[in-house]
Amino acid sequence: MKSIWKFGLPVLIAFLVVLSAVPAVTATTELTAIDPPDPNTPNIIGLSTKTIDRLIERIDVSESFAASSAKKQNTLAELQRIKTIFPNVTLADVQLIDDTLATLNKEFRSKKYPDESGSNGNNNPKWGGSGTSDPIISGTHNDLSRQAALSMGVSSSNAETVGRYALEPDEGIPYISSIGHFLPTGAADYAESNANDAKNLLVQGQTFEGYRKLAHSLHFIQDLSVPFHTIAYQNFLNHLNYENYVFNDWTSGQNFYSSTMSDPYYYEVSDVSTSAENLGNYINAYVDRIDEIMLQDSAWQSNTELITMTKDCLTQAIRYSRGTVGYVV
Ligand SMILES: [Zn+2]
Repeated sequence: MKSIWKFGLPVLIAFLVVLSAVPAVTATTELTAIDPPDPNTPNIIGLSTKTIDRLIERIDVSESFAASSAKKQNTLAELQRIKTIFPNVTLADVQLIDDTLATLNKEFRSKKYPDESGSNGNNNPKWGGSGTSDPIISGTHNDLSRQAALSMGVSSSNAETVGRYALEPDEGIPYISSIGHFLPTGAADYAESNANDAKNLLVQGQTFEGYRKLAHSLHFIQDLSVPFHTIAYQNFLNHLNYENYVFNDWTSGQNFYSSTMSDPYYYEVSDVSTSAENLGNYINAYVDRIDEIMLQDSAWQSNTELITMTKDCLTQAIRYSRGTVGYVV
């Protein structure tokens, strides 16, 4: 068992000072290492016959597929055919599903989030939080990363670096920057390479760059705690809608922040990519159900089953983030 006590008295005092300065961050005085849950065998492509059924339901109410148009009839017929042969689909079948998802997603985005592109033109999913140059650094990635560092005994100034640079991997060209941030596109490996870079930089005394790399590593860990990041499609179904919800209810509404930060546990991490993959595989089991609830329950934002699953995702995020901090520092 590892605890904050291993860092010695000076660090402990600094830690307690930090705790008293920012009481909302954590009430934890000592974390306990526990075993992570067993991972599931992931449904990597994110598709099941159930998912195809929901795609069909969406096409029925979509304006992009005009009633009785040839495109609509053809797509529906193709999806019904794919269902009967699933999972022995062809590349062309996957392409058809992907195109359909892209069409539906585009329509959904323009209807639900007409102002989503915002003043800075950033229309990335909103799980993130603040960019490196924002005056106030808060948001899901920032807060999870900062608190993971603090609760594992990192000084407040270094933890601030970890919080500030947590969103950096998403910055750049919307969507393009985030291509590697999914379970099937290498997120677990990126978590590991950044963690190892961080470790080496810290050993060399490059404190700032070391903690900045740690922030990047935690970003990939946390992406894998988002159910929609554990499947193949960037534009998959309710991805954006769900991330916006978590971001909006982070410190108000459901206040996911406080339920996440009061968690007193962490997982030991000795192999970052293996841990990250375990996390993604575990979280993957939620994606179908969360998407289903979002489609079928018009008040899904207050659906207790969805809230329970979301809280577990965030709890896994903070525990694996803490473990990764422990691996690096
Ligand atoms: Zn990301």
